[in-house]
Amino acid sequence: MQRFDPALLASRLASFVLRLVTVPKCIVCGETLEKEGELCPDCLALWKNAREARCPRCHKTAAACSCTPLSMFSTDTIRHRPMLSLIFLGKPGSGKIEDKLTRTIVYKTKRSENRAAANFCARELASVTLRFLYRAGEKPADWMITYPPGTRQRIRKYGFDQSRQLAKKISRYTGIPWMSCMRRKGRTMQKTLSSMERRINAERAYTLRDCPVQGKNILLIDDVITTGATVSACARLLRQGGANKVFPISIARTKRVAASARRAPSSHPWFAYRVNK
Ligand SMILES: [Zn+2]
Ligand SMILES: [Zn+2]
Repeated sequence: MQRFDPALLASRLASFVLRLVTVPKCIVCGETLEKEGELCPDCLALWKNAREARCPRCHKTAAACSCTPLSMFSTDTIRHRPMLSLIFLGKPGSGKIEDKLTRTIVYKTKRSENRAAANFCARELASVTLRFLYRAGEKPADWMITYPPGTRQRIRKYGFDQSRQLAKKISRYTGIPWMSCMRRKGRTMQKTLSSMERRINAERAYTLRDCPVQGKNILLIDDVITTGATVSACARLLRQGGANKVFPISIARTKRVAASARRAPSSHPWFAYRVNK
């Protein structure tokens, strides 16, 4: 049972009142919303377009693409898919309006104290994930959600850990329990590194906490999957802890992922480590 905490109650009450008196605005263009939600009808239509964008390699949508990034191994595949993503993250400055929109939404999920963007992404990802699990014959009750924790620097800078926040929200929308299973050791943020450096850094960056992952199926939530190095390192760690299946889910994957997969010959040594192959 949770103990009564007056400070927590007061802050919840304050945010509730604030929500009543402020007018909800579109998280992308700032237009006042007439109905409940996070996006205006125009931005929502663009988001739906972005979800239909095709992979340059297999010409499927991000939610259906089964191209495996070069540096991704030790994760499981479900229905031949190495991961589940909502969208392909567009290149910055590509000039395409959908790319700008998806980048804005992902960016706000990462940094904004306004939780609307995270709510939106979590709800979208929750519904896609549930549908995917049911179709694959997986029972959501057999799964749990965890995440690679952010660096301490990053959490201090923005005041929260975006992957933890996403994991919690997705858990709320899906009913799948979440757990904090890993600790972050390193200080280096992945985005500043090349793909080989990412792999080496990710291998050193996480340790397993004392938590029961034995025999569990784990959905590993990361906001953006770039090379797959982070999710691979975490999956390996969770397996060492006795986890059964580890399957990565993310809001976005980069198209660079698909491009590097194309160049990988099937005899590439890293593919040999893939578990379900
Ligand atoms: Zn809008
Ligand atoms: Zn593909």
